[in-house]
Amino acid sequence: MSELVHDLGIPLRFTPWRTTSRYVHWFTREHGRIVTLIRGALRPKSFHLGQCDLFATSDLVFYRRAGDAIHLLRECRLLRPRPSLRTRWAAASAASAAAELLLRALPPSAPHPRLYDLTSRWLDALGDAPCPETALVWFELRVLDLEGLGPKLDRCAGCGRTHPLPSEAAFNPAAGGLLCGQCRAQRADQRGISIPLPRAILDALSAWRHAGHPTHLPAPLPPRLLHPLSDAVGAFLRFHLHTTLPGRDLMLEVLREASPDRFALRPPPLTMDSNGRVAKLADAQDLGSCGAIRGGSTPPSPTRPAVAGSPPAGCPPPPTNIPTETSP
Ligand SMILES: [Zn+2]
Repeated sequence: MSELVHDLGIPLRFTPWRTTSRYVHWFTREHGRIVTLIRGALRPKSFHLGQCDLFATSDLVFYRRAGDAIHLLRECRLLRPRPSLRTRWAAASAASAAAELLLRALPPSAPHPRLYDLTSRWLDALGDAPCPETALVWFELRVLDLEGLGPKLDRCAGCGRTHPLPSEAAFNPAAGGLLCGQCRAQRADQRGISIPLPRAILDALSAWRHAGHPTHLPAPLPPRLLHPLSDAVGAFLRFHLHTTLPGRDLMLEVLREASPDRFALRPPPLTMDSNGRVAKLADAQDLGSCGAIRGGSTPPSPTRPAVAGSPPAGCPPPPTNIPTETSP
């Protein structure tokens, strides 16, 4: 027996079924995490074609079945497409890591409207976030708070000692947050690893705890602070969710190590530097100050403006047989 219900939903994952159908893993506002089957979703004349997309919000009507069964989608209409997540690969990567977290943290069919609203607003802001990794870590901490698993940051998780914690305080996922030096020494031979974090990171964490709206995401942290913080939060998530997060690990690896011209959807602009060599301008708009661009590039010298189309003497001429989409 099934009933027809209406809800708002954000697709977190697509899974193909047979040749033209697929399962959609939704985070819905009133029904939590659910899975629906869309029959014929990929047929050219399907009513649902283009009406649901990853990280976009859709209005949906589906036949709800009892328990954790797969529900059958009847109607779907795209409400908020979030096009910036289609053009900024770094932001889309952060959204993918957030989707992985929600898929693993949320029990099926358990409504969580506050977390849904947070996710929706965070996705709205993510497209313009200057540093997707900072935005992701902020989101993860908020999810932990809403799930009742937030790390203890304002006092020692062992003895309850409050700030100011001494400089030897460390972040211990197994203990549930920060440990003072004394508790850290007592737990040295127990399970869990304490992660030393600089005072600046602890201050940032405390500020984030009270900052709190997705439209006011925290300012990007420099890589020397952001990367250890991100790794510590990742260790906390893995320990308390009893799972791995391979998508998150891959996303951080790509963000920190990859050259943007390999993954950018739009080719980066090219120019000549002061020595007559082709230099690539850093796509700072996409990666912000995350430090994901390694090496970067040097902007053209103000005394020798870039010249397009006429390479200086000594440079090989540009190739003339570059294939195009219309070439056979
Ligand atoms: Zn303590």
